[in-house]
Amino acid sequence: MAQFLSKCSANAMADAAANLLAGGLVAFPTETVYGLGADACNADAVARIYSAKGRPADHPLIVHVAAMDGLGDWAEDVPGYAISLARDFWPGPMTLVVKRSALAGDFVTGGQDTVGVRVPNHPVALGLLEAFVRAGGKGVAAPSANRFGNVSPTTAQAVSDELGDYLADGDQILDGGPCDVGVESTIIDCTVDVPKILRPGAITAQMIAESTGSEVIGVVAESAIRVSGSLEAHYAPAATVELDRAPLPGEGFIAMAGVMAGNGVVRLAAPESHQDFARVLYSALRAADDQGLDTVVVEQPVGDGIAVAIRDRLMRAANSKKAH
Ligand code: AMP
Ligand code: MG
Repeated sequence: MAQFLSKCSANAMADAAANLLAGGLVAFPTETVYGLGADACNADAVARIYSAKGRPADHPLIVHVAAMDGLGDWAEDVPGYAISLARDFWPGPMTLVVKRSALAGDFVTGGQDTVGVRVPNHPVALGLLEAFVRAGGKGVAAPSANRFGNVSPTTAQAVSDELGDYLADGDQILDGGPCDVGVESTIIDCTVDVPKILRPGAITAQMIAESTGSEVIGVVAESAIRVSGSLEAHYAPAATVELDRAPLPGEGFIAMAGVMAGNGVVRLAAPESHQDFARVLYSALRAADDQGLDTVVVEQPVGDGIAVAIRDRLMRAANSKKAH
């Protein structure tokens, strides 16, 4: 069983940083979701992330660094617009995909010649990363701290529920409270002429356009993903997720606070804003499983901003081929 730490004192973070450098795994909070971290320079430690998650080896990990200058360690040929983005939005919920340096091994990039880098905006994550740098580390590779295909964890308890059985005795879970943003970082491909959004998140297309003064290539049209109908399970609870229909008695329901539900419907969340929607979505999907519900109906938020990211995750959850 991993060690569960609820008081993230400076000593605890120095201890966790030493653990990472020694090859241990440390799950830690960020403003988006909880990550499962390993020393990004240690192939054996990174391999343990893949086995704990049950994740295919060709899926790249995001390297987390303490500050923007860490980008220079991991990347080469960083375009000017990526520097603007880093200046404007780091620390924050944004991952830049850039040409990798020699430091970024195949075991972190999934064999690609690019690497994803992010400076998270959470006091525990930054405290851990700063302690890691002081101890001689360069970066912490961390995907979301869930089994592959499942809903990302937004609390330390959810990490423990997901991965407790797959972590070793010396591994640690740092508890920094519930995540503020609630959906994963915006991923931006910075290897082409203009920024290209690979995964929508809290840093929106409009914010990217304003920061860079550039055209922004958006996410793949929803219709293109919908018609495929063959997506592997991703962001998916055990319950079946269905979108934009009236919920029946006994079904879970997630919708904005103004939307009413009939008698017998299990209301899992009633957020007041799109920000709230993102913040509570994953814990509401987990609550459906905790209550043993077969089906969760979600009325999707409309419009731009973080609603785009919410619909992206919901579409994938609803398209999942997961065996129920
Ligand atoms: P997770 O942290 O679980 O959300 O997973 C990390 C995400 O970052 C995955 O969707 C990866 O495909 C993406 N990612 C990380 N590095 C790269 C890269 N070099 N190129 C494209 N996507 C990346
Ligand atoms: Mg993930």
